[in-house]
Amino acid sequence: MTVTLAFHGAAGTVTGSHYVLETPLARIAVDCGMFQGPKTLKELNYQPLPSEPARLDALVQTHAHTDHSGMLPKLTKSGFRGPIFATAGTRDLLQWMLPDSASIQESEVEQLNRQNRRRGRPPVAPVYTNEDAQRALKRIAPVEYETWQEVARGIRGRWWNAGHILGSASVELEVETGNADLPKLGILFSGDLGPRYGALQVAPRGPQGMDYVLCESTYGNRAREHLDDDQRRAALEQEVTAALDRGGNLLIPAFAIERSQELLGDLIHLMARKRLPRTPVYLDSPLAIRATEVFERHLDQMDDVDNGGESPFRAPNVHFVQSIEQSQALNRIAGGVIIIASSGMCDAGRIRHHLRHHIWRPQTTVLLIGYQAPGTLGRLLQDGAPRVKILGEEIEVKAKVRKLEIYSGHADRDDLREWVKARLPIQRGLFLIHGETAALAGMRENVLSLELDPGKVILPDLDQRFRLDRKEGALALEDGRRLGPTRSEEAKRGWDWHNELSALSLELRRQLDELGDDKARMALLKDLRRVLEKR
Ligand SMILES: [Zn+2]
Repeated sequence: MTVTLAFHGAAGTVTGSHYVLETPLARIAVDCGMFQGPKTLKELNYQPLPSEPARLDALVQTHAHTDHSGMLPKLTKSGFRGPIFATAGTRDLLQWMLPDSASIQESEVEQLNRQNRRRGRPPVAPVYTNEDAQRALKRIAPVEYETWQEVARGIRGRWWNAGHILGSASVELEVETGNADLPKLGILFSGDLGPRYGALQVAPRGPQGMDYVLCESTYGNRAREHLDDDQRRAALEQEVTAALDRGGNLLIPAFAIERSQELLGDLIHLMARKRLPRTPVYLDSPLAIRATEVFERHLDQMDDVDNGGESPFRAPNVHFVQSIEQSQALNRIAGGVIIIASSGMCDAGRIRHHLRHHIWRPQTTVLLIGYQAPGTLGRLLQDGAPRVKILGEEIEVKAKVRKLEIYSGHADRDDLREWVKARLPIQRGLFLIHGETAALAGMRENVLSLELDPGKVILPDLDQRFRLDRKEGALALEDGRRLGPTRSEEAKRGWDWHNELSALSLELRRQLDELGDDKARMALLKDLRRVLEKR
């Protein structure tokens, strides 16, 4: 009569949430996210899913973000035939996000295969295609917030608004252990949690008195200023005014979901009150445009969107850019406009061509408004890299790079502590998941200040499996891990040999440029070659 829980993602690493809960009666998964960040992790997306999809009875979805949902099409492609339970908001967002993710997979692989052909390597297949995405979408069964839903034999679930993005939820599972005489186990998956004071979403809600809780730790070690709506808009006003004064364009890499709508809402609010000039704003992301339409359908679930019955995301100076030609035409505008484009961490999407055309100009401003994962282009810009490589081209960074953290959709250290406190008592175990190493360590200290038994606070590793014992709490089992210790460390640090190689080649380029003449350049290269030959 055992219940086990396996952490096939978002454990000891930053991304790719995927868990398998197995009881004597059923086997279900929670989330099926894509690994993002360093290549060591991304390569796992091409390997078989460790969750044995054909043996799963159902899947429970917390929210629509790619690191929680991006592998759903691979799940169905690998034989999953059960229902995917998700809120209506999540379903509506996935309807656009999964096909978008499929087209990114397909075009990335196309590029890779062109390289592979030149290098004489065999071609690879995309992680999944649009057809796979459509098949996954057909399996989605919508659920209501705070209403019990049968998930599989002996397992029912209840979705609580997590206040993170539209449709986001923490999922409470009530699990029969196979012995009718014993009480059921209560397990709560936090999903990603929103801040107590967010722009469009309500404060997170949830149940109490669970046996086990899994809590995300993205900002487990960081406190942020808690701004109300007025303070947040004032901070944005200041940044936008400074950027427009600089005379160049303002580029805002933004996640298509939530961040883009929050920004649009605030910009329109400030412009309507003449606190900002009605300068042209381009929302340059087909996915963000689709998402905005989904938001307009779910305005009743949102906080602070009263705009006299009008959409809070539309105004005459706000342009939704659909086609790639329209997007490229924006490259001709050297200053005075605001461009919001995805992806939020600059590692894909149209923002890359805007950055390529503008970050070498000192008048340009890049405003980073969200979390930048290690190894991404956004993180390099945030860390002040003097040169970056975009779409195969090396470019000098002369633009002003600013960071404004007021829009993070994540709970900070204090919000997370409050969330855990509101869930107490936690009877048997608290798993801390979904955070960089320092964030997880900070989160552990954070929750221990609530006088939780340290033996019950667990930081699981990727692919680790636990028996959820009623008496003894969570017991680690033998497991089959996909990453060995070194690669696992690299993935945790978010810096692998691919990152090291590109940093080294940029540094080499810089030194070669700085040397006065070709003779000195040749000498440097010969030195390097001697080092290589000695190995
Ligand atoms: Zn999320």
